[in-house]
Amino acid sequence: MSSGVLILRSIRLRITLWYVLLLAVVLAAFCAGIYFALRQSLIDDLDNLLESRAGLLLGAISYESGRPTITGIDFTGDPAEGENFARVFDSSGEVTFDNSAGVGGPPVDQPVIERTLKGETTTRRVEAGGQTLRVTTLPILRGSAPAGALEVGISQEDVDETLRTLLLILAIAYPLTLAIATFGGLLVAGRALTPIDRLTGLAQRISADDLSQRLDLDLPDDELGRLARTFNDMIARLESAFRRQRQFTADASHELRTPLTAIKGHSEVALQRSRSPESYRQALVAINEEADRVIRLTTSLLSLARADAGQIPLSLEDVDVAEAVRAAAEHSHPSAERKQVRLRVDPGPETRVTADEDLLIQLMLNLLDNAIKYTPSGGEVTVGWATESDAVSLKVRDTGIGIDREDIPHIFDRFYRVDKARSRAAGGAGLGLSISLWIAEAHGGSIVVESQPGKGSTFTVRLPLAR
Ligand code: ADP
Repeated sequence: MSSGVLILRSIRLRITLWYVLLLAVVLAAFCAGIYFALRQSLIDDLDNLLESRAGLLLGAISYESGRPTITGIDFTGDPAEGENFARVFDSSGEVTFDNSAGVGGPPVDQPVIERTLKGETTTRRVEAGGQTLRVTTLPILRGSAPAGALEVGISQEDVDETLRTLLLILAIAYPLTLAIATFGGLLVAGRALTPIDRLTGLAQRISADDLSQRLDLDLPDDELGRLARTFNDMIARLESAFRRQRQFTADASHELRTPLTAIKGHSEVALQRSRSPESYRQALVAINEEADRVIRLTTSLLSLARADAGQIPLSLEDVDVAEAVRAAAEHSHPSAERKQVRLRVDPGPETRVTADEDLLIQLMLNLLDNAIKYTPSGGEVTVGWATESDAVSLKVRDTGIGIDREDIPHIFDRFYRVDKARSRAAGGAGLGLSISLWIAEAHGGSIVVESQPGKGSTFTVRLPLAR
């Protein structure tokens, strides 16, 4: 039973059934067309023959005391021999000549004779003596008035025989053609659809745990080939998303573990024996610093998680770029001073952007913090902006350690740090730039970096101008 259900569920069978159904209808119409066209043509031929025979006979009509009859023509009158029979009626409908006995004398159709005597010609099919005849009845005109009627008949057996043979041929050819079409259709549809079964089989083997598999099908660039390729692309995207997810979880746990281990270490040392108030204070300061690191990290992780989930609504407003830059610079000022790095604002033209002001300030703060972090004492960090036709480019330039060319493509990745030890010592977890990039992109903007190792870096944020 299950295989029966399977067969009905197969596209192959459904396509074939539709195709055969359509073919059956078209073929039936075609057969009917052929049959009726041939029948019409054969009967037309017969009628033409009858007409010419009638013409001949009309020429042989003679009148005996005013009544028409036929004399002087010698014919067998056997329609079965391809001959015609003839019957002549006078103006009162009486038979004056008749050689139809050979075909069993078809009965006289009185109403037809009456109509003929009024000038009408009738051609019809008549059954007589076990055979079918084509009979035409036409008026015999003397002057312009009908003086009688001439009836000429000829056998229709040949025509009927031909039509019967044609019907027989069609009756055999019709189901045979349908059977061949069904078989051929199943074969062609099967061939066309086999790759789908293979695709299904392969796709079933790919699971979430093993996304490295691909549908390695050698398919041409047709519908199925494109389906397989799209499927492969989708799996590739899933695989990289899963990999990033796993990496992210591992990195996040690792980053959290480090400060927590430090807190545990500091507190255990402090608790080992009784100590002076000063050393407790030192331990608490160290623990406090590590706790700050955990808080910073979890805040960043939370921002990223919410950004990923699309849960950070932008409260867009008209923001004065100068004000946002000044706010960020003021915030960064103390750390620049501590590090003895000169922080300079290089104001550009008065510009406004449509942005979430808090996020914009956070973006600038991240870039300024990095610039200060990775610039040695005595260096300089400059923040400024310039307008282009439809965008503003905010630049944070430093004279710091710079970034190697091969690291540049990765610095926006989560948890990526060029020098882990240096970054951690400076309080970074490698999330600042990921968050900055998200903020820029959420505003329809972008961030690009130019850097010369040993000389400094410039981060340029492009944001569309307020309309
Ligand atoms: P972090 O918290 O470690 O600073 P970020 O995501 O902000 O993380 O930056 C990623 C990495 O990019 C940093 O670890 C650092 O190596 C590099 N980087 C970022 N800004 C600068 C800069 N101005 N100069 C040199 N290196 C930088």
